Amino acid sequence: MNGNDDTRYGPGTRVTLAGRTAEWTGTPGHPGAVVNPPVWRASTHLYPDMAALRAHPANADGQFYYGRRGAPTQWALAEALTALEPEAAGTVLYPSGVAAIAGVMLTVLRPGNVLLMTDNAYEPSRAMGRGLLRDFGVETRWFDPLDPAAMAAAICPRTRAVLIESPGSLTMDVSDVPQLVKIAREHGLVSVIDNTWASSLGFAALSQGVDIAVMSLTKHVGGHSDVMMGSASAGASWYRKLRLRAQTMGTVVSPDDAALLLRGLRTMDIRLQRTTASALALAQWLAARAEVAHVLCPMLPGAPGHDLWARDFTGGCGLFSFVLKGGSSAARDALIDALALFGIGYSWGGFESLATPVDPAPIRSATAWPPAGWDQADRFGIRLAVGLEDPADLIADLEQALGVWRNARETAA
Ligand SMILES: *Cc1c(COP(=O)(O)O)cnc(C)c1O
Repeated sequence: MNGNDDTRYGPGTRVTLAGRTAEWTGTPGHPGAVVNPPVWRASTHLYPDMAALRAHPANADGQFYYGRRGAPTQWALAEALTALEPEAAGTVLYPSGVAAIAGVMLTVLRPGNVLLMTDNAYEPSRAMGRGLLRDFGVETRWFDPLDPAAMAAAICPRTRAVLIESPGSLTMDVSDVPQLVKIAREHGLVSVIDNTWASSLGFAALSQGVDIAVMSLTKHVGGHSDVMMGSASAGASWYRKLRLRAQTMGTVVSPDDAALLLRGLRTMDIRLQRTTASALALAQWLAARAEVAHVLCPMLPGAPGHDLWARDFTGGCGLFSFVLKGGSSAARDALIDALALFGIGYSWGGFESLATPVDPAPIRSATAWPPAGWDQADRFGIRLAVGLEDPADLIADLEQALGVWRNARETAA
């Protein structure tokens, strides 16, 4: 596949053009006849004759061969994601974001290797280190995502790779990714980023020096809470290895799901603009509230990580967290229950807003929660996934729910 990083266009134009190969959206006599590639449901691919079967190019992209290698619907999605990731040579699709992380890890790591992981990584990524990877002889070590020296200090002769997540799940810490990647390069490590939060539109991971960029497409690319998929994009050498390993593992995604993701992709830029602006409005409003101790939103000037975000990112999203001033777990539950416009659920990136509690303490091993320097009573966080509703309505909903929280806190006291 061609890394068509047509960066002379803006992101809205790029998501409109990406992956619309005329050959896959038409017939031989009429290439590009329709806008979207049809849903090619195909396990069997047919050869016109034996000569064609014998002449089939060995394992090439974009060639009919057998269903496990996909057909034009999946190829178009992979090609679109490659086009949106500057410097990518190709993209492998996986049935979920977690499957993408596992597929990458099982490509990069060998028994006896050590993997470094930012301490704020998505819990299922951490669980992979404690479970799957350990069972295959890989040791995982976690480090403070805000301290490049801690990463450097954790490297040993067996260290093979680093998995970075930035901003990190729940606490939204922004790492100095170029610095972490530089340390990785100096020690011959493979750098992998879980780029789900920013997507390739908000953080050009490979251009920043990362070797492999993973996304859960379930979130921003899907955008409608009705489909799951993951991706890994890389330069030519890693792309070839990822693709072969995915084939060996029988990794395949359905053409129906690929079509849903292509549909989501076309509006991703405009949705992200809207959710970023709304999240910033909510974050600003929360930062001024007496009930709120900390707002963890990289887009918010003055918030932790804002300077690095402003330096390295070209966009944000609707996902951020805030921490209440004191209170209790029960009072926080009452607040979340009182929200009318925020669903309670573990995902994000959909058109609808969501709220979930943030309790990272039990799942961190290299950093403290609450962080040192905070009033230790300020520990009950809430993560908001801001959707496409009107921000004024969301703010009014938060305002009434904070009233419920104040009552619940006083009743408990
Ligand atoms: C949701 C998520 C994943 C996993 O994606 P699925 O598609 O749900 O498997 C990975 N990383 C991050 C940061 C996520 O938020």
